[in-house]
Amino acid sequence: MPNNKNSTHLAIIGAGPGGYAAAFLAADLGMEVTLIDPEPDPGGVCLYRGCIPSKALLHVAKVISETQHAKDWGITFGKPKIDLDKLRDWKNGVVNKLTSGLGQLSKARKINYIRGRAKFLDPNSLEVLAEDNQKQKLTFKTAILASGSYPVSVPNLTIDSPRVLNSTSALELENIPNSLLIVGGGYIGLELGTVYAALSTKVTVVEMLPSILPGADRELVSVLSKKFEQSFDSVLLETTVKKLTEIKNGIKVQFLPKDKTVLEKTYEKVLIAVGRRPNSEKLGLENTKVELDDKGFVKIDPQRRTNEPSIYAIGDVAGEPMLAHKATHEGRTAVEAISGKKVAFEPRAIPAVVFTDPELAWCGLTETEAKKTGRKVEVTRFPWAASGRATSLGRSDGITKLIFDPETHRILGVGIVGPGAGELIAEGVLAIEMAAVAGDLDLTIHPHPTLSETIMESAAMIFGTSTHLYRPKRKR
Ligand code: NAD
Repeated sequence: MPNNKNSTHLAIIGAGPGGYAAAFLAADLGMEVTLIDPEPDPGGVCLYRGCIPSKALLHVAKVISETQHAKDWGITFGKPKIDLDKLRDWKNGVVNKLTSGLGQLSKARKINYIRGRAKFLDPNSLEVLAEDNQKQKLTFKTAILASGSYPVSVPNLTIDSPRVLNSTSALELENIPNSLLIVGGGYIGLELGTVYAALSTKVTVVEMLPSILPGADRELVSVLSKKFEQSFDSVLLETTVKKLTEIKNGIKVQFLPKDKTVLEKTYEKVLIAVGRRPNSEKLGLENTKVELDDKGFVKIDPQRRTNEPSIYAIGDVAGEPMLAHKATHEGRTAVEAISGKKVAFEPRAIPAVVFTDPELAWCGLTETEAKKTGRKVEVTRFPWAASGRATSLGRSDGITKLIFDPETHRILGVGIVGPGAGELIAEGVLAIEMAAVAGDLDLTIHPHPTLSETIMESAAMIFGTSTHLYRPKRKR
């Protein structure tokens, strides 16, 4: 709703999980807040076109694949009949419920929500261009920039065709293509590949590096790769796409593999998911002292203050990792700093979760990073084949892995692959934040039978005393 107020204590630009969490906390602390975003309600990319709609569809994918599993247990379901309109409506309903809920929470907190795009005129004022093209000037005491990021486009792959999708159009589920090429084996490519494969599309992923999910632990990724061998048509590694050409029934794709023998194939649709870039342009930052780094991220200090004392920056626009939960915590830190508290954004661990099947989640140090930096660590890995709960789910393909300091047994990193890994990783984050040692996890009573026991058992493994694995080592 346009608002004629022309001054505010705190202006927040962008109402994603960073911006709205900051706005809500600021209002709770008694600040007078204006939140600006082009969408009708708070939510940002995460709720409107990212995390939430993709998780709604991934849940459907999980239901479909569970029914396929069920034949191993003596229950046979028929081929799923997919009513695409109803599925789309359900996904949109999830988004609407959550975004309108955030709208209500914003109103209840008396936040001045302006629908529009903001641009800095100077260090204490903004111009807001509303949906109806009306311009409004807004002065502020402090601002938080939470403008997020946008998908990278690759110049030779940018062709104007409705058959070439990005994450937004892929989530619209216009149809279920027979074949889909996904360029980029990262979070988005693999999550949306999981959705489309479950809906019966033949999915191919092409990744330019030697492995999918280059930032994650290799051993855990290999479990996921094995699963993709069954669910995807193929995963082409160390391969790039040279050219896309629209033809009558699809997109002709020229691949350039490592051995340079050009390969050509046709797909009904192509999804480009090769990373995201910070939204730090066209914001009038040149009218302030805000500085950008060479990747376009806004430079910030531990309180998330930019080089311009009245302007803070949080979330994707302020640096990696581009994850909603990191943005939320940065937003809360910035607001506390603005309110005069002595705070800094210094997490010991930021969890990462890839919501594929199985899920892959990690936090803190990975074994791959430890090897790269030459840091001495001790590693335990508990195979889910030894977990009663995993076996009863018919999912013994998981691994829970702990990385310890060899001297103190302090937990430095946790990695989990398996269904529910995204939920389980929270215990690992807490362990790292609380500086827990192996004995703390080992002595903590975990409920039986649950997958959470795999964390307790992998901690016990360092002493050679895991109940469900016989790996004698040394006594405490
Ligand atoms: P990403 O960085 O996760 O993966 C991009 C992949 O594309 C990389 O593996 C990269 O090597 C590859 N690539 C780059 N150029 C290529 C080319 N020309 N040909 C083939 N491969 C190429 O990026 P994304 O999947 O687009 O996701 C963007 C961001 O969104 C991520 O940084 C992530 O933080 C966030 N995200 C998070 C989640 C989650 O938390 N579950 C889900 C979706 C997105």
